[in-house]
Amino acid sequence: MHGHDLSPSTIAVGAGRPDRVPGGPLNAPITLASALVPGGASEYGRQGNPTWDSFETVLGALEGGRALAFASGIAATTALFDLVPAKAAVVAPRHAYYGTIAQLQERARRGQIELRLVDIDNTQQVIDASESAALVWIESPTNPSLEIADIEAITRASARSGTAVAVDNTFATPLRQRPLDLGADFVVHSASKLLSGHSDVILGAVVTNSDRAHDAIQKRRTMLGAIPGAMETWLAARGIRTLHVRLDRAESNARELHKRLSASRHITRCRYPGFGTIIAFEVVAGADVAQKMTEQSDIITYATSLGGVESTWERRRRHPGEPSSVPESLIRLSVGIEDVEDLWIDIRNVLATFN
Ligand SMILES: *Cc1c(COP(=O)(O)O)cnc(C)c1O
Repeated sequence: MHGHDLSPSTIAVGAGRPDRVPGGPLNAPITLASALVPGGASEYGRQGNPTWDSFETVLGALEGGRALAFASGIAATTALFDLVPAKAAVVAPRHAYYGTIAQLQERARRGQIELRLVDIDNTQQVIDASESAALVWIESPTNPSLEIADIEAITRASARSGTAVAVDNTFATPLRQRPLDLGADFVVHSASKLLSGHSDVILGAVVTNSDRAHDAIQKRRTMLGAIPGAMETWLAARGIRTLHVRLDRAESNARELHKRLSASRHITRCRYPGFGTIIAFEVVAGADVAQKMTEQSDIITYATSLGGVESTWERRRRHPGEPSSVPESLIRLSVGIEDVEDLWIDIRNVLATFN
């Protein structure tokens, strides 16, 4: 119909809408149903819901695969980890989202898997560890250290050893990184972050381009009951409609703030991978000052989570589960779409007050 490949912005706006029928809505309605009339794709609300389809279609189209929505990012992760055979080895980054690592560590403690933690930006170390492993779990950029994995080199090596590769693409979004194109078998999202984008949804997804893997994950979702609510998928599909605009704006803010933070004598090791909306930096004066700074800002909200239109920040080590290799004074800043000068004045003021 179009005669050319549509750009991601056009897909974000247009994919997953209902057929155009006179008098019909432009957006998928919110279908609240436990039971559906037999003969269709689903007849019970745990198996499927028409509102999920809209979110799954647009996310799948952006990632270049087929998506399945889950109750949360962690529910999506759990479904995938459940497919790892008993006693098999899983390779994962030392600094991945700590809920992910905590789950892997518990599975290892119970003797269900063998866990091999690696520095994900050390490609050779990852490849060596993935020998004879069932799954390599990649997060790139990592949370909160913002390390970058060479996804393509890792998937190439894993293809030779028959190891599955999954990429948590929460920080990059399909607009900055398409892991399936780079050879990954699975993409996992916390749609609670940039995809929904307004800090009002908990939702996750798995995307794959293998029909067999898709069916296995879908079966897992139904069996575990790790299903999303209709409202959450509706909100996330609505969020994706503006993802490209929000991301462009937040990213340009992040680039500018990274430049200015890097020049501040109160800040050290300011990390920004060159794309995305997350900056991490350490406060020279230490953890107490870093904690006070985050609690006293005016425009930037002191809060966990990330990827919303509003800027938020926190000292990550305030969470007891964060690994001790994350520095005590490290602040993770999620840059929103406010005016960058207002954000900088806010940061400059707290830097001046506490340093
Ligand atoms: C938030 C987050 C998760 C967990 O997702 P939930 O939706 O909170 O369950 C997983 N990975 C990354 C990178 C995250 O930021």
